[in-house]
Amino acid sequence: MGIAQPIVQTGHPVLRAEGRELTRDEIKSAEIQELIENMRESMRLAVGVGLAAPQIGESLKLAVIEDDAGEKTKLNQEQLNERERYPVPFHVLINPVLQPVGDEKVDFFEGCLSVHGFAARVARYRAVSVTALNEHGDEVSIKAHGWYARILQHEIDHLNGILYIDRMYSTTFTNVENKMRYWD
Ligand code: ZN
Repeated sequence: MGIAQPIVQTGHPVLRAEGRELTRDEIKSAEIQELIENMRESMRLAVGVGLAAPQIGESLKLAVIEDDAGEKTKLNQEQLNERERYPVPFHVLINPVLQPVGDEKVDFFEGCLSVHGFAARVARYRAVSVTALNEHGDEVSIKAHGWYARILQHEIDHLNGILYIDRMYSTTFTNVENKMRYWD
C-alpha cells in the first residue's frame, strides 16, 4: 500500500515545469513502483479522478486516473449522461502523447486538486486518443470520449506544466461555495 502525499498547490514552480520522461528500466524500478502506489493513495484520499506526479512534487511524465462516476461526484444520472461520464478503472499513464479526435469541444466546469476550492468552465475536446506506457513499461493506446477524455486532457496538461486556469473561461472562475449557489 502506498502512502498519501500532500498535494502541491498552484504557485509552486513544479506545477509549471515540463515533467521528465521515464525509461522502461526506471518504470520497473522500486522507486517508481512505490511512487505509483503513493499517487494512487494520494488521489483516493483527495477524492480526485486523476493525479499527475508534479502534483506531489515529482517532475515526471507520470499520471494516474480512476473515476468511479459514482456517489462522490454528487451528480445525478442526467448530469452524468450530459457529461458522458462513465466509470474508468484505475490505470497509469507514463510519457503520454495526446491527439484530439475531431474538432468538437464540450464545455463544463472542472476543478483541480492543485487549485483547491475553485472551479471554472473549460472547453475540452470531446474525443481524444492517447498513446503511453503503463506501469509495466508496455505500450498502451487509449480512445476516450466525454468525461474520460476531459480527465486525460487535464492530467496530460499537468505533465507539460499547464493548469486548467490557463484554458478556462476566466469570467466563470468561482469558488466552490458560489458555484453551488449561483451556477449549478
Ligand atoms: Zn489538476
